[in-house]
Amino acid sequence: SSRTSLSSDKLLQFISSLSMFDRYHFSEDARIITSTVPGPESEELLRAQEELEGDNISYPKGIPIAFDKAKGAIVTDVDGNMYIDFFSSCGVLNLGHNNSDILDELKKYPDTIIQAVDFPTKARIEFSKKLLDSLPEEMRGQYKVNFGGPTGSDAVESAIKLARINTKRHGMIAFQGGYHGMTAGALSVTSKLSHRKDAPPLIPGVHFFPYCSPYRCPFGRNKPDGCDFECVDFFQNALENPHSGIDKPAAIIIEPIQGEGGTYIPKEGWLERIVDIARKNGVLVIFDEVQAGFYRTGKLFSFEHTKAIPDIITMSKGIGGIGFPLSLILYKKELDVWKLGTHIGTFRGSQLGMIAGLAAMNLVEKLDIKSHVKLVGNLMHKRLLNVQDKFDFIGEVRSSGLMFGIEYVKDRSTKEPDAELAKKVRKLAYENGLLVEIGGYCDNVVRFLPPLVITETLAHNGLNIFEKVNAMCQNE
Ligand code: PMP
Repeated sequence: SSRTSLSSDKLLQFISSLSMFDRYHFSEDARIITSTVPGPESEELLRAQEELEGDNISYPKGIPIAFDKAKGAIVTDVDGNMYIDFFSSCGVLNLGHNNSDILDELKKYPDTIIQAVDFPTKARIEFSKKLLDSLPEEMRGQYKVNFGGPTGSDAVESAIKLARINTKRHGMIAFQGGYHGMTAGALSVTSKLSHRKDAPPLIPGVHFFPYCSPYRCPFGRNKPDGCDFECVDFFQNALENPHSGIDKPAAIIIEPIQGEGGTYIPKEGWLERIVDIARKNGVLVIFDEVQAGFYRTGKLFSFEHTKAIPDIITMSKGIGGIGFPLSLILYKKELDVWKLGTHIGTFRGSQLGMIAGLAAMNLVEKLDIKSHVKLVGNLMHKRLLNVQDKFDFIGEVRSSGLMFGIEYVKDRSTKEPDAELAKKVRKLAYENGLLVEIGGYCDNVVRFLPPLVITETLAHNGLNIFEKVNAMCQNE
């Protein structure tokens, strides 16, 4: 009847208006049901943790929460509160928590060998092929993959070692604001002094150079048209001046977009120039894609937004598909000079990570997640610029894809960092049902790394909470 066809038309309309990403999430909104957070059950677990684990715990100090369940961009705590997750367990859950399609894929491998050191398995070969085939066209067929221990730091250690073996040099050039991990080699190329302070002697011969961070240009050239890439000349001088005092390094290591440093995105052309200078001087180029990689910025690698091409790439975080620890490096075939067993380790064969990682890459293609990242990223960026208009304490909003940095300042003209305010925003956001992260050179940047499958509705609802929280800060 016409009544039926009308209602089925409406139904179809309704269904197509729903985002195809809806089904990946628990709910389309946050919900705080306890009178305060943390609720009583969370409090109990947090207390127990403090007793058992000691003072090195970090995240729960900023967001005192005890998690229970998670799906998509929604996580619940043990008291039944629901939060919109703009944090993704530190930028790991790119395809969302417990992505049902990836979980289904894992079920197709009952009794799979779960850990297989570096023996070949079908999953391992398929995963490696898919990853290498996904390299930008001009790089395809020219790289190899090497799996290391399961963390981002492990990938960085492998990259440093491979560069040293190839060049027979030991020094490294790293960049201010860069974060590469906590193991001795990775920490040696990480710039944050508070991380380095109590470490044992770090590897020698590491020098740090200014990163292109226009908002906080170390050369004071922060006007949009005032930059002449002095930092590039400075870098070039260090490599080419016979009196630079810096022995030629094995490699430079660089994040094409800095993550922990505060979502700093270099100006167009900067990365290419740094890479050209390194290459001209026989210095290898390592791009650390641990955080900005795996589609976070709308492309598999964040360097794909530039024309720069690396010799070695590090990857971890997202590549395990749904949070399985997995890490690797990709490197040019001609660098493959290391001998059997030069760089080994037990956990180089997580089958679950490889099955899930492969499923994740396939899903990104099937659902055109790259376009989704671009779409939702643009919407969120625009909305954040509106929020910035309302609050003087937001100095700058930066983003690439679904990687955001909102920089808090005491005064827009002096740009004096306001770390306390960033902390307060994180706390109030949590109390109102939104999880965010803090980073930045001065710990004054609120960072968002939402799952890439986040719906427009969830993104907006999260930003509603964010805006409300900023208004609360202003009114105090
Ligand atoms: N490199 C980058 C760019 C990172 O963001 C991180 C982690 N935040 C690492 C390396 C280190 O990874 P992991 O913590 O797994 O050792």
